[in-house]
Amino acid sequence: MDTEPYTRVLLKLSGEQLAGKFDNGIDVEFGAWLAGEVKKVVTSGIQVVIMVGGGNYARGAQLAGHSIQRVTADNIGMLATMMNGLALVDIFNTAEVPTRVVTSIKADQIADQFTHRRAISHLQKGRVVVVAGGIGRPYLTTDTAAVSLALELDCQVVLKATKVDGVYDKDPEQFPDATKIDQMSFQQAVADDDIKIMDKAAMGLALEHHLPIIVFNATKTDNIRQAALRQPVGTTIGD
Ligand code: UDP
Repeated sequence: MDTEPYTRVLLKLSGEQLAGKFDNGIDVEFGAWLAGEVKKVVTSGIQVVIMVGGGNYARGAQLAGHSIQRVTADNIGMLATMMNGLALVDIFNTAEVPTRVVTSIKADQIADQFTHRRAISHLQKGRVVVVAGGIGRPYLTTDTAAVSLALELDCQVVLKATKVDGVYDKDPEQFPDATKIDQMSFQQAVADDDIKIMDKAAMGLALEHHLPIIVFNATKTDNIRQAALRQPVGTTIGD
């Protein structure tokens, strides 16, 4: 088994994570803490791409209906990710973690457009790259966008930040004897409807391209660094 640290990772942060102790919006205090955690990864020589979600403001699937079309709802969702991206980049730069935001939706006044070349150039300069707007198309979530972007930018792993320690054999909130699974196959993850790590489109894309996903608790000190250094943390989903 390969134990070398990764050289480029994609960190997927959901809107819920960014809301921290709040029900919605952004927990700036948590954001600043997160900047410190990501800094540890960058100073270990690992390049970091962040895909931000938008669920702390809007999710297309929840908003659609009641006279809002799905495409409109997803556009609103993508704008929500933009708000998170803009905030996160300032929080990170204030914490002296050099960071740039790029967007997959056209918003010239607000942020630079995502291009492969621009993202790679920032990474090579040691900057964290935050990608807003998912991949800029409706009917997708930022989980699927994260896997797609990781492939596009040659990231070796998707680090899926959650508030739980990983995948369990049964619900740990209901069953005190639930045990954490350290490794599982894509097939297992896709087949088991009780395992809701990422949507099926995201898992399918990762499976097809053999891109491992680590599901872990990003709110615990040092966990992001450990995952990036390939040290045991959370649940690894792979071949
Ligand atoms: N979205 C989209 N295309 C993308 C990425 C996201 O249309 O490529 C929309 C979709 O409506 C989604 C919303 O943006 O629900 C916010 O993203 P997501 O729900 O993935 O956020 P998270 O749950 O990670 O906070």
